[in-house]
Amino acid sequence: MTLATNPAQPTAAVPTLVKIVATIGPACDTPEMVARLISAGVGVFRLNFSHGSFDQHEGRLRVIRSVASSMGLPVAVLGDLPGPKIRTGRVDDLDGSGGLRLGTGQEVLIEASNVPARIDRGIPMLGCTYGGIVRDALPGQRVLINDGVIRMLVVASEVHDGAAVLRCAVTTGGVVTSSKGINLPDTDLKIPAITQRDLECVQWAVGQGIDFLALSFVRTADEVRELKRILAGMCAVEFGTDQTGEGSMIPVIAKIEKPQAVAQMESIVEAADAIMVARGDLGVEMDLAHVPVVQKQLIATADSWGKPCIVATQMLETMIQSMTPTRAEASDVANAVFDGADCVMLSGETAVGKYPLVTVETMRRIVEAAEGRMLESSIAPSPPRRVVQTGYRTAALAHGAWHVARDIGARLVVCWSQRGGAARYLSQTGFRIPIVAYSSSARETRRMGLLKGVRALRCDVPGDERSALAEWNRRVDEDLVALGWARPGDPIVLVAGRPLGVQGAANTLAVHFVGNPSTGFRTHV
Ligand code: ATP
Ligand code: MG
Ligand code: MG
Repeated sequence: MTLATNPAQPTAAVPTLVKIVATIGPACDTPEMVARLISAGVGVFRLNFSHGSFDQHEGRLRVIRSVASSMGLPVAVLGDLPGPKIRTGRVDDLDGSGGLRLGTGQEVLIEASNVPARIDRGIPMLGCTYGGIVRDALPGQRVLINDGVIRMLVVASEVHDGAAVLRCAVTTGGVVTSSKGINLPDTDLKIPAITQRDLECVQWAVGQGIDFLALSFVRTADEVRELKRILAGMCAVEFGTDQTGEGSMIPVIAKIEKPQAVAQMESIVEAADAIMVARGDLGVEMDLAHVPVVQKQLIATADSWGKPCIVATQMLETMIQSMTPTRAEASDVANAVFDGADCVMLSGETAVGKYPLVTVETMRRIVEAAEGRMLESSIAPSPPRRVVQTGYRTAALAHGAWHVARDIGARLVVCWSQRGGAARYLSQTGFRIPIVAYSSSARETRRMGLLKGVRALRCDVPGDERSALAEWNRRVDEDLVALGWARPGDPIVLVAGRPLGVQGAANTLAVHFVGNPSTGFRTHV
């Protein structure tokens, strides 16, 4: 049955437990490339709203959706909101460098408006996306461009040809190009957490049915809740109040890239649906020596709340230009796996790099090798501490399933998870075997793309409520064998509930041997 709806699935690589998120951009947005990236293991594509127009995003979204549906695979799309991130304006090739070359020791003027860069009487002038920069920045404060590659210090706020500008002295030169991030780690910026541009992006994302939204430069849990309030309002208008099990509210991923957010990680994780360790800006906003430690703390905090954590930025950075990563990059990907990340992410490597496919294949091989090593080490369940304290039933069931799975040497855990709750708690309990999760909701199966270890399958709820569990059990047997995920006779653990297909129903656990009708869920259960 699954084969009929998933004709390409057996040709895709065996899924890894840790998921791969890839940023889509001009280097990888053809249907052929998207299909290859999915086959190589990408389960979530990231659209970065900081780059490109809505027309371009819509084109890419359409390509992802049509390729995923022809492959019969659930592939999610994450929309990354710019948030209060300040960027350079347009920078054309002004001096043969590919952009605007700034020499160390040189002075440069940053304008309070988003105008193209130019050279005025020998002085380089850069536009920027935040008009308040000239008012907010004070002499002596740092201005860092492109994740801190180019560095300068504020000299003065002044007026140049009738326009407000910030005069800066370059301390580390380099080539500035269009739409690069500008960080002012010493400055108290008066920029709102959710900008007008963010609201336009959120509206667009809701209209397009995007699966996740990430918010950049989060400082407090209130900012996450504010985005959720805005989203709830927009989603209610777009989809109506949702009783269908389709899950209209878009989950929010908090990008942790400010020291203020690191200080508030507990409350931010509690407020968000997932977090991203956004190391590019984090390594600029705070001393980068602390970033590896913060990464571990953030993963552990997300884990304790049972929420997925994405590790992002520069994971295989040199592969933007090169066929092979550095050894340090390979170690970084593996260490993110050892730290317990749910997802590892590629940014420029796939969006604008020369070798998007080789990069994804390389990342997958590193993840597989790291997972292989983890399987050799002794294991213990790690149910989400902060959630279990509240006595949450599904978390307790998942914890029990872990022990049952270990004791019978289960090959897989298979659940019906209509809204993704059971899949999430199973995922967050630290199984070292794959979790196969069924839902009748296409959207929910896509959203399981962030969950470590979870392989999502969409399936209609069997019609007759009395025989639904048994019918689903038969289907599980067929699917697992057809997909090559289990062989007849393999022990598996089933988690589901009655009525099948209803949120929160999972309350039953059964041991089953694949293909053996006298085990698992039977009609008279
Ligand atoms: P963020 O802080 O949100 O990660 P970023 O500028 O670092 O923003 P990434 O998505 O991490 O953006 O991509 C890295 C680089 O790749 C960008 O700085 C940009 O130069 C380039 N890039 C990414 N996506 C696109 C795109 N759609 N079009 C053009 N260039 C892109
Ligand atoms: Mg960032
Ligand atoms: Mg980035």
